Amino acid sequence: MGHGLCVECKNCDYGESFMLGVGMQYNSLMNVISCLKGAARNKVVDILENHHVMDGEFEHRLYACPNCNTLHERFYVHLEYDDGKAFEVAFRCGKCRTPLEVVDENVLVLERYACKSCGKRELERGAEMLWD
Ligand SMILES: [Zn+2]
Ligand SMILES: [Zn+2]
Repeated sequence: MGHGLCVECKNCDYGESFMLGVGMQYNSLMNVISCLKGAARNKVVDILENHHVMDGEFEHRLYACPNCNTLHERFYVHLEYDDGKAFEVAFRCGKCRTPLEVVDENVLVLERYACKSCGKRELERGAEMLWD
């Protein structure tokens, strides 16, 4: 079961829900391959179909742009295959193209991040929610 992190801006009416973790149908990466786009998706399909996967991890994670200081949700995938090779998806900020960094939600300090609408650092946590 995944969970949603809801953030709201105290300064304007911006609000956003980040769906994190994994849902019920996430027992196989192939089931949820549509979470990936473009080249990353092709690469993962190629690895799953044509290589020997030793270990893997995938879930929706919280990312941040270190340049814009904004929060983003992305589908994280890490695969180890063919005895020593590894693949990890990388994401860029849609606005400034800076590589996004994974944020550990347990140590998330919302005050560090800017509202995507008004730009002020006035974000606070809204209601928690669950999704599958
Ligand atoms: Zn950015
Ligand atoms: Zn705002």
